[in-house]
Amino acid sequence: QAKMAGRNAVRFFNPQMQAEVSRRAEMDAGLWLALEREQFVLHYQPQVLADGRVVAVEALVRWQHPERGIVPPTEFIALAEENGLIVPLGRWVLEAACMQLARWASDPSRADIAIAVNVSARQFRHERFVDELADILERTGAPPSRLEIELTESSLLADVESVIARMDALKERGVRFSLDDFGTGYSSLAYLKRLPLDQLKIDKGFVRDILVDPNDAAIAKMVIVLAESLGLQVLAEGVETDAQRVFLAGQGCDAYQGYLFSRPLPLEALEAYLGMRRLRGPRRLRAASIRG
Ligand code: C2E
Ligand code: MG
Ligand code: MG
Ligand code: MG
Repeated sequence: QAKMAGRNAVRFFNPQMQAEVSRRAEMDAGLWLALEREQFVLHYQPQVLADGRVVAVEALVRWQHPERGIVPPTEFIALAEENGLIVPLGRWVLEAACMQLARWASDPSRADIAIAVNVSARQFRHERFVDELADILERTGAPPSRLEIELTESSLLADVESVIARMDALKERGVRFSLDDFGTGYSSLAYLKRLPLDQLKIDKGFVRDILVDPNDAAIAKMVIVLAESLGLQVLAEGVETDAQRVFLAGQGCDAYQGYLFSRPLPLEALEAYLGMRRLRGPRRLRAASIRG
């Protein structure tokens, strides 16, 4: 007993914890300032169809820190969700992505490209989300049918009627919906069937060991079959090797995203990448591996 109390006391005054608390407080304040100082930037990662065409890019936010350099979203999105910054930050991301979509829409060589944007649960459930997005689409002149919202299963845990109402309001304008990190959450199949989704994304956690772990392979196959039977497109994320792509193609996967094709790129590098692919023509993927 005494030992336990002692341990708790030690834990309570742990200087390491103090350091962690002040690091988080600093990070918290830094994030709000970063938004004010326009230190966030979007990188774009190509999404590639089975025939090699780049039909979309996923916008992934980064923090350009004056001292620390580029800070990845894995280091600040969870905190932004906790402290509420995700609402204005997410609005900034949508606005930046829609401005880019509008620019591309007036460029014939880019006119068919879509942008996928990640929307957090807290952001999606915000009462003003639908109105604000509709407003952004109108102000920027972005073609709504080339905007794809990536939600995770946790966004859909709220009551089903309100989730469907939100999705429907945006779908009416032509916005598309994709379910990100699929397989890592808890959505029931009966629930999934009711949602107006366009795409499922197989989480990269299942793709990584797909060639060596039979459980991961089984899950990936199941998601592909499920998507097919629900009439949804299916995209595999985190594809790093051609062997992984070939395996997924053999199961009937529609689209791919991952380092095999490209890392997320700053806008200028993405433009160069797209220009190169246009000149060479889409890199032909081995047809033999694509299910007929
Ligand atoms: P996500 O939406 O699942 O995005 C895919 C993540 O996998 C990205 O990490 C991407 O860089 C990484 N990735 C892509 N291809 C590969 C690959 O072949 N191998 C491996 N190992 N990783 C790959 P990133 O950019 O660090 O983003 C992490 C997460 O942060 C995203 O996961 C998303 O949940 C969140 N996020 C990023 N941008 C935003 C945003 O604007 N808003 C919100 N709410 N969340 C965002
Ligand atoms: Mg995503
Ligand atoms: Mg994902
Ligand atoms: Mg992920």
